[in-house]
Amino acid sequence: MPRRNKITIIGSGNVGATAAHWAASKELGDIILLDIAEGIPQGKALDLFEASPVEGFDSNVKGSNDYADTADSDVVIITAGLARKPGMSRDDLMKTNAGIVKSCAEQAAKFSPNAVFVIVSNPLDVMVYVAWKASGFPKERVVGMAGILDTARYRAFIAEEAGVSVEDIQALVLGGHGDSMVPLISCTTIAGIPVTEFIKQDKLDQIVQRTRDGGIEIVNYLKTGSAYYAPSAAAVQMAEAILKDKKRVLPCAAYLEGEYGISGVYCGVPVILGKDGIERVIEVKITDEERAALVKSADHVKETIARLD
Ligand code: NAD
Repeated sequence: MPRRNKITIIGSGNVGATAAHWAASKELGDIILLDIAEGIPQGKALDLFEASPVEGFDSNVKGSNDYADTADSDVVIITAGLARKPGMSRDDLMKTNAGIVKSCAEQAAKFSPNAVFVIVSNPLDVMVYVAWKASGFPKERVVGMAGILDTARYRAFIAEEAGVSVEDIQALVLGGHGDSMVPLISCTTIAGIPVTEFIKQDKLDQIVQRTRDGGIEIVNYLKTGSAYYAPSAAAVQMAEAILKDKKRVLPCAAYLEGEYGISGVYCGVPVILGKDGIERVIEVKITDEERAALVKSADHVKETIARLD
């Protein structure tokens, strides 16, 4: 009997468990939810599996503390690690999360040597580099989630301001996750019409700033953790693109070797995402100002990696 796709989600906290929820409800495959905490992944997975008759999805969802259960996964989503609390930057999480992500990636790679890894843990652009090194995989099969989330926030705010459906907003955000992201207003359209025909420049500038601060806005409300509905939905959109070989054009953190004049670092750029991971990095025409901001963003990631080494 042909087997279903298999998705492993490492870290069964807010982002991991909610990613399992989205993935199961979309019937993307069978799911292993793995965590270092005993009982939590088992309990959440069982609860989600018990929702399947009500919601009508056929997906086996199992919790585990043992990497042997993750064997032969098609996609591995890594969400393990600490999340931000008020007053913390993403970089504050670095040392602890680097150790966690390294060990998760090493072990997952051993059991699923052909998987595509989607990294979510923060600081994202550094963690995806750590996971890539630890996995020993080709760069195409280790990809970071940040751009879809940043773009989703930007699209949501634009839709709200313009009074139109979120579905009709196309947008692109480049660069590192967070403060150094580079939203491309030139690539933002509403059903193909330039956004500037709907929203004035000063209002757009405010939306760009709110997008940059999108993570901390939620941390300040929640106080005990960071965003998880939109981040997990974004990670699952990447998993879906890979599992269904959709060849979606999505902003993801990809390892660059000369594209956009940047080398040796993961950076948020538009890519084509299919069954083998990143099929191609797309180089869009950007202004000198946008290029300078992108290079600055990549330099910041490089400095952070150097501090980690
Ligand atoms: P959380 O605290 O709710 O969950 C983290 C889980 O990781 C916990 O269940 C913990 O037990 C588990 N864990 C810790 N060490 C582990 C290990 N060695 N092996 C397996 N599991 C381990 O946090 P969260 O809200 O789910 O966030 C998870 C990560 O995702 C954080 O680093 C957060 O900053 C990041 N994040 C990234 C983005 C993004 O855009 N890339 C968005 C939101 C959150």
